[in-house]
Amino acid sequence: MIDLGSGVEAVVMYDLVGRAIGITLLHEGCDHGWYTKIDVPWVTRERPQDVVKVECWEPLTLHEVITCACGFSGSIRDGRWTTEIERKQAQSYPVPVLLTIEGHTVELGLIHVTFDRNTVQERKDLAALLRAYAEKLHDADDGDN
Ligand SMILES: [Zn+2]
Repeated sequence: MIDLGSGVEAVVMYDLVGRAIGITLLHEGCDHGWYTKIDVPWVTRERPQDVVKVECWEPLTLHEVITCACGFSGSIRDGRWTTEIERKQAQSYPVPVLLTIEGHTVELGLIHVTFDRNTVQERKDLAALLRAYAEKLHDADDGDN
């Protein structure tokens, strides 16, 4: 039994000769638990989506998002259960940085922000963009002289 946190536990299932063939997941507040086959040559499947890929056994990391029959859905990364919402929060997305002076807008570039707003990284990315733009303005000044 592997405790993944958030009330989710995983049990690795083996065939008769001791090879891992699948994982059963159990989560709080749900009676069924669910079994998923893993993508190894000795496991039969009818469709590619019948199996999940184990990226790492220790700590357990699965490639695919998995969904219980009750609709409970999430991922297993670094031995921890991560819900879809948490996974999305950890993803970053690009945001353009615009400088507007008297109605004239210049796009300085893109910074990557996350839903949980990791402002330390945002400030670093923004500082790098502003420094690069300042350098460009400075170089343009030199060209005029
Ligand atoms: Zn369930």
